[in-house]
Amino acid sequence: MTSGIRPYWRNFIGGEWVDGADGTRITVTDPATAEPIAEVARGTPADIDRAVRAARACFDSRVLRDQRPHRRGDLMLAVAQELGKAADEIALLECRDNGKTLANGRAEVALTQRYLTYYAGLADKLEGRQIPLGDGYVDYTTHEPYGVSGQIVPWNGPLPVGARSIACALVTGNTVVLKSPEDSPLSLFLLAEACERAGVPAGAVNIVCGYGHDAGAALAAHRGIDHIVFTGSVETGKSVLRAAAENVVPCVMELGGKSGAIVHADADLDRAAASAARGIFNHAGQICSAGSRLIVHRSIHDELVAKVRALAAARSVGPGIDGCDMGPLINARQLDRVEALCAAGRAEGATAILGGSRLEGTKGHFMQPTIFTGVRPDMRIAQEEFFGPVLVVIPFDTPEEAIAIANGTDFGLAAGVYTRDLRLAHWTADRLVAGQIYVNEWWAGGIETPFGGMKRSGYGREKGQEALLGYVQTKNIGIRL
Ligand code: NAD
Repeated sequence: MTSGIRPYWRNFIGGEWVDGADGTRITVTDPATAEPIAEVARGTPADIDRAVRAARACFDSRVLRDQRPHRRGDLMLAVAQELGKAADEIALLECRDNGKTLANGRAEVALTQRYLTYYAGLADKLEGRQIPLGDGYVDYTTHEPYGVSGQIVPWNGPLPVGARSIACALVTGNTVVLKSPEDSPLSLFLLAEACERAGVPAGAVNIVCGYGHDAGAALAAHRGIDHIVFTGSVETGKSVLRAAAENVVPCVMELGGKSGAIVHADADLDRAAASAARGIFNHAGQICSAGSRLIVHRSIHDELVAKVRALAAARSVGPGIDGCDMGPLINARQLDRVEALCAAGRAEGATAILGGSRLEGTKGHFMQPTIFTGVRPDMRIAQEEFFGPVLVVIPFDTPEEAIAIANGTDFGLAAGVYTRDLRLAHWTADRLVAGQIYVNEWWAGGIETPFGGMKRSGYGREKGQEALLGYVQTKNIGIRL
């Protein structure tokens, strides 16, 4: 085990730190070295059941929902403050169990605090309507919490993804059972500690690490949950939805993407190149909204590709803890998958003008920054999500063709457009089928802007004010005076 990281972590259920019901453990490895760094208690269906009961008891006690809403906001402010005290430890954990760079690890703590404080501020602003029914009646609506929110989180950004769902759930009076990702569970334990220190009532937040097919499936199918927030792949999302359908449980589904940026001929190419490189190589492309397709006007294709290639080639690849620009993929399976998809691209006739394979000479799961040209929209590499540092470049001749290419996948999470022409920017944004459109900067927006998918990328929104509406149900109260 490695110094600086605690060797063993327990799950947080009903305000207590507990071993797994069957005493087994999950070994967590560092993707930069493939060495074990810690063990966590393995949550099983029995642990999930215990956590759901704790969350139900807390919800039924009405300890959260009977409070003045701003008090629930105060609680989130306190969690944000407590989390800040663990910022250095969390940044280290995100490097070691997740493969992030130290800068990214620190940024994730700040981002998580922003989620907590943002939803703290909204706690007392979710208002109902008064509906006029004429003389003798008073009618109004309220936003009721669902009850126990079951939340399943992916490995690529567990802390902010988990915290934003927890914050939305708690400020609206729900309670939470969160299944943390088996590959990178550690930072969420520090969020649980921050909740404990901040005085979040026992049972309001329960965090259980376990395997997806086991603990995850048990949570999705549990009869005692009232609401599901799932962030992960489309295939897993479908199985969660089947389980939810059995219990008629509403879901927020945040699934994958194959997001494309259109670069028109008049774009600022230096700006577009820098933005495109950041959009795909940040966290080695393991971001659902990564800009993984560059759809480029043929007249500027070669010049733009040369600029992006130079930026990509300048990135140092290696452990984030050593200050490198791009860390590893999360595990060997993911590295194999990304490499195999690159091989499929070559077999279909595309050219890797940079990278295209793993970094040799290391036990870590490092993929080289990769750029493919000569890509047709129907190729597998233009259709399937890599979830790795692989950019595919597709040329176009007319704006209509660019839209057809951009919209021509199953996904619809994010899309972008680069142009100096405001009319063309708006024309393009209007026709792109995606939940978020970025104009002249990939990831323009923030925690304040609603985020979520269209088509197979899912439904429901996280971030922004819209997210809160996914955690409440409307009740109408009609009164005959
Ligand atoms: P995944 O679907 O394999 O796993 C996500 C979570 O689901 C994990 O906690 C896993 O343990 C759990 N899980 C696995 N099988 C399950 C089952 N049968 N029932 C219930 N839970 C189960 O995804 P991943 O590989 O961890 O993450 C990568 C995927 O997530 C990518 O497709 C990416 O685009 C997507 N993602 C989306 C967003 C978003 O906001 N839209 C954010 C991050 C990641």
